[in-house]
Amino acid sequence: MSNIRKNVSLAPLTTFHIGGKADYFVEVSGTLELAEALEYADDHHLTTCVFSGGSNVIFPDAGFRGMVIRIVDGGIHISQHTLSAGAGVKLSDVVQAACAAGLSGIERLAGIPGSFGGAIRGNAGAFGAEIGDVVSSVKGFLRETGMVKEYKQDACLFGYRTSIFKQHPKILILSADIKLSLGDKESLQWIMAETLATRESKHPQDIKCAGSFFMNPLVRDTTLREEFQKDTGTESKDDKLPAGWLIDHAGLRGKKIGGAMVSDRHPNYLINTGNATAEDVMMLASLVKTRVRDELRVKLEEEVQYIGF
Ligand SMILES: Cc1cc2nc3c(=O)[nH]c(=O)nc-3n(C[C@H](O)[C@H](O)[C@H](O)COP(=O)(O)OP(=O)(O)OC[C@H]3O[C@@H](n4cnc5c(N)ncnc54)[C@H](O)[C@@H]3O)c2cc1C
Repeated sequence: MSNIRKNVSLAPLTTFHIGGKADYFVEVSGTLELAEALEYADDHHLTTCVFSGGSNVIFPDAGFRGMVIRIVDGGIHISQHTLSAGAGVKLSDVVQAACAAGLSGIERLAGIPGSFGGAIRGNAGAFGAEIGDVVSSVKGFLRETGMVKEYKQDACLFGYRTSIFKQHPKILILSADIKLSLGDKESLQWIMAETLATRESKHPQDIKCAGSFFMNPLVRDTTLREEFQKDTGTESKDDKLPAGWLIDHAGLRGKKIGGAMVSDRHPNYLINTGNATAEDVMMLASLVKTRVRDELRVKLEEEVQYIGF
């Protein structure tokens, strides 16, 4: 492969702006290029990892010993109510293309950074909508056999921030089809703009972070759920409480370790204030988990993916 590069800085490729250099780095688009990159890595006995938009990952400060494969582009194609896109296409471009074509179903996902493939893998969602709701099929590359397999929606096992692709990291998403419904172009543009404005009002979206760091956990403790309701005037959804509320409740809003900080606007955002290391973020995440567990008896689990640790 001609476009393999050595010693490539990973930090600028992530929204956290954290991470050292990859020994080997390659950008791939489509099945053939992905297969070639993996073959090169196998031939040279290199460990591999895959990412795309970099909006939900942290790489180690020391970098990645092996080959980092970044899935990019892939194109968007619309036929009637079905939109097909490559895994490396930006989710925002998919949302924009759907709305411009008068297709409804993903307008509330406007503003979620990262790629279409990354969104499907984590079943990204916001404001009650999740990408998994509209997926009709996904093409996956099976790392172990080199085969391509199609997964219909039922087989994708979508759940809250999860899918079969997250549970089985050796299935790499190549592309997917989503099925949308007919909408009014003008209203869709309005909903998109309103969604972007709401997101920005809750938290500036262009800061160095990976969005919500922890998933919203299931909380069985009814007293805690009642406390949440009293405090916010809203009921817990599906017996889950917002991780941000729990972190705040444990007194960690604004807590800092090195350059990493629990956002004082949105406590489930751990942010890089400028010079945070991966170690700072991990120590802060560990402190948050320990305090929430000890004080509230709730186990938090990262939504952000640590790669190469
Ligand atoms: C400011 C901000 C706001 C955010 N808001 C939201 C939100 O509202 N809702 C939400 O759900 N998320 C949100 N996120 C998190 C993030 O944008 C999503 O998780 C996004 O879908 C990740 O996509 P990505 O391409 O950036 O994935 P990456 O960060 O590149 O990778 C994340 C994981 O997915 C895997 N992966 C990536 N591409 C593929 C592929 N093609 N095949 C298999 N595995 C793959 C990687 O190996 C890694 O484990 C936010 C992030 C930021 C920075």
